[in-house]
Amino acid sequence: MYRKLIRYSNKIFNLFNIIVSITDGRLKPQIATVKITTAIIIMQFSNLGSLNSLSQAISAGNLKKDIPSVSTIARSADSINLEEIRNIGIEIYQKARKSKMLSPYCGMWVGIIDGHEQTTSKYHRCPHCKSRIVTKKGGVKEVQYYHEFTAFILAGPDISFILDIEPVLPKEGEISSSYRLLERVLGNYPKAFSVVIGDGLYLKETVFNLLKKHHKYTIAVLKEERRQLFEEANSLSLLSEPKTYKQGRTYYKVWDHLVSGCWDGYGRKVRVIVSEEATVKRTHSKDGKEWEDIVDKANWMWVTNLPCPESEDLDDLKNTVRICHSRWQIENQCFNETVNTWKADHVYRHSKNAIIVFLLLLFMAVNILNIFRIRNIKDKSIKTKVYLIELINSGFHATSNPLSPIPPIPI
Ligand SMILES: [Zn+2]
Repeated sequence: MYRKLIRYSNKIFNLFNIIVSITDGRLKPQIATVKITTAIIIMQFSNLGSLNSLSQAISAGNLKKDIPSVSTIARSADSINLEEIRNIGIEIYQKARKSKMLSPYCGMWVGIIDGHEQTTSKYHRCPHCKSRIVTKKGGVKEVQYYHEFTAFILAGPDISFILDIEPVLPKEGEISSSYRLLERVLGNYPKAFSVVIGDGLYLKETVFNLLKKHHKYTIAVLKEERRQLFEEANSLSLLSEPKTYKQGRTYYKVWDHLVSGCWDGYGRKVRVIVSEEATVKRTHSKDGKEWEDIVDKANWMWVTNLPCPESEDLDDLKNTVRICHSRWQIENQCFNETVNTWKADHVYRHSKNAIIVFLLLLFMAVNILNIFRIRNIKDKSIKTKVYLIELINSGFHATSNPLSPIPPIPI
């Protein structure tokens, strides 16, 4: 399976040829950058999880002459050009989009933005670490060092696709980093999406206006802290009947209000969508002898400048609610899955540049593997992604030279 994935990456995305354009800032490099990025990509594809595991595999397979040493990889990563890696990401996206490997979500191309904290430690730090003081049990205070980044993904019905990330620098908040990320994504992927979703933090006129300038709509979660909008939506909900429907096991009561004059600074009308959701779940009763139904309730509110639907068609509203909920894809498919399955929180090399290098290359590998899985795996016995990743990992270890499926590098 390892060989299949490497061949697929090269056949479909020309991966190991296009990464030749990535350079780094070493003064007199003995080893070409492409050998470094190739080593990192095969480490990510095979889910080795650390440079130590790669080092182990290099010495076990007697590959010292083929694969750069771990210290060379780490040192080079400090200065690998991030923009050149991002350009490879754009090429992969363009190929995937043109070949219809990606699909819109509920009829729309949806971008999602959110922040993620990468690592916490009290020992390891660099000049670009963020820090905070935490109080442990017993009142002991401790400094915690961590890195944080914002990510932008495309939602999809089968897979989401990670477009880009941007570090959150020390002494700044998520939103400052997200402006840089949004500006760059809007420039690099101008037609990739038509609406962007964020959590309550993104309910800012600057975010709505920036996206509007680029002809994109915005959806942001409405929290109680935004009192005026929140209270207006609640009063309107008391005065009007919701639309009700059932989808799967969930019963929805949805209001779609047009609100004006409650958001100083934005000055335009916005829609506030309110969704009261009740999901019936069947669980074992306390004595374990019978089943009982419990009802899970959740209330959601979103603010958006998406145009009002032209008709009263319930399907339009259902789709809008589903699109609003797709924000979870960034939590589930981008952060949780890459952390749990791909060890994305591992710091391969603790420097500002290297952290982003390893993450960008990891997300590139994850994007390709997701496409490979849905388009190329016909074997019905491979049901889960975790199992597929295990097969790739064991394929890597079983290959006498993991570089052999890669065509000669044109350097
Ligand atoms: Zn640091």
